[in-house]
Amino acid sequence: MATIVWFRQDLRIEDHAALTEAVNRGEEVYPVYIWSPEEEGDWKMGGAQKVWLHFSLKALEASLAKLNLHLTIRSGDSLKILTELIKETKAHSVVWSRRYEPKGLKRDAEIKEALTHSGVDVKSFNSQLLCEPWNILNKLNKPFQVFTPFYKHCISLKEPPKPLPAPAKSKGKKLKSDTLDLLPKIHWDEGIRHQWHPGSHDAEKALREFVKNREKEYGEMRDRPDIFGTSRLSPYLHFGEISPREVYYEAKKSKEAEVYIRQLYWREFAHHLLYYFPTTPTNPLRPEWSHFEWDRSPKLLKAWQNGLTGYPLVDAGMRELWTTGWMHNRVRMVVGSFLIKDLFIHWVEGAKWFWDTLVDADLANNTMGWQWVAGCGADASPYFRIFNPTTQGEKFDPDGKYIRKWVPELEKLEDKYIHEPSKAPPLVLRAAGVTLGKTYPYPIVDHDERRKEALVRYAKLKGE
Ligand SMILES: Cc1cc2nc3c(=O)[nH]c(=O)nc-3n(C[C@H](O)[C@H](O)[C@H](O)COP(=O)(O)OP(=O)(O)OC[C@H]3O[C@@H](n4cnc5c(N)ncnc54)[C@H](O)[C@@H]3O)c2cc1C
Repeated sequence: MATIVWFRQDLRIEDHAALTEAVNRGEEVYPVYIWSPEEEGDWKMGGAQKVWLHFSLKALEASLAKLNLHLTIRSGDSLKILTELIKETKAHSVVWSRRYEPKGLKRDAEIKEALTHSGVDVKSFNSQLLCEPWNILNKLNKPFQVFTPFYKHCISLKEPPKPLPAPAKSKGKKLKSDTLDLLPKIHWDEGIRHQWHPGSHDAEKALREFVKNREKEYGEMRDRPDIFGTSRLSPYLHFGEISPREVYYEAKKSKEAEVYIRQLYWREFAHHLLYYFPTTPTNPLRPEWSHFEWDRSPKLLKAWQNGLTGYPLVDAGMRELWTTGWMHNRVRMVVGSFLIKDLFIHWVEGAKWFWDTLVDADLANNTMGWQWVAGCGADASPYFRIFNPTTQGEKFDPDGKYIRKWVPELEKLEDKYIHEPSKAPPLVLRAAGVTLGKTYPYPIVDHDERRKEALVRYAKLKGE
């Protein structure tokens, strides 16, 4: 008798209810990862995440080996592969952790039905969220669309279950396993490899370090991209290398628990929204936004993607993203606002670029983030709240440290002009080795003009 444990976005052995259940049965256990990008539809895994996954699977393999288990990797149609593996191992049961994206949900339901129909026992578990979306509804029995009531409701419920320890040692034979070709042929991924160490071991380390050393100042520092002030757990949480329950209970030990746990519930809220509004990755939650007048401008889009807009905070963010696969939340909001409200480029274009370049790209969080910035989503920032990229830089990167790190051609520019090089006198520019239009671009648009134009387009949408 044997059980197959199908790993997806739960690449860990701690607090893994499906794995624990399989091991506790005392039978052979066959952990499997199936590479099936076609099944994700329009949101196939992006380039940065493939790099992450490559290392994450190796880390999972090593963790499972400590339990005497062997990870089998196969590529292709999930149902077909599971069926083959059931034959190979004589498994009577398949267990997995639930996914919540529309495609994942549909596929899992189909697979569950097909396997059950052929006499295989299928069991799924929650390993990704603090609360299951279907258990959370407002007083009118409708999904929440505003964060604060959602949060208050969630924390009024029973606390999430305590995380489970890793299961005991188990048994299972080694099967034929594929080698996935996930790393890029051209090495643009060095920055990602340098910055990150995927896998549960480093996720745990990052969590403990953050709670011990940094979280004292989290509330104050979480908006500062020039300071290492947030946990940087997002890719680990996305790939399930650490469980949200573990993060929750560890964070609870610290003084600033509430501020941090609130952020974890933004993640829950994002999953809640995606579950109840599955078309939102490409459609605005507020339908009137389908009529907004967007521009198509490949040239401006390219300048934004390459971090060559002439607005230093925007450029720093976009280059941090390209180099490391991650960007600070405050800067995500600023670059998003710039794309949408200064360049009038559709937020889905931004979401797609983030999808390909973020190591933490997550359909729920990314969709909510972009719709929030655009003003067309749940609890969204109002459209007339247009971030000024210069004053945002002055406020949240006061010494220009973040800009200097990611836009080195401005490194020597005086503090007074670091957020607005185009206002610097020629002598100052020369002294810093900056030639506008050559070493660093002029602003690609005039923010004040674009702001006015954005408000006109918004008024049209509102029919004013
Ligand atoms: C336009 C835009 C796109 C985004 N795309 C993604 C994405 O694809 N994947 C992703 O994980 N996050 C996304 N975010 C949310 C947020 O920027 C990141 O979760 C955060 O920067 C991760 O850094 P951290 O782990 O240090 O966060 P911390 O501040 O340490 O927060 C802890 C955890 O809480 C969760 N969290 C924090 N803020 C948010 C938030 N606003 N929304 C949802 N969850 C949150 C994350 O899981 C995070 O790891 C996006 C935000 C915006 C504005």
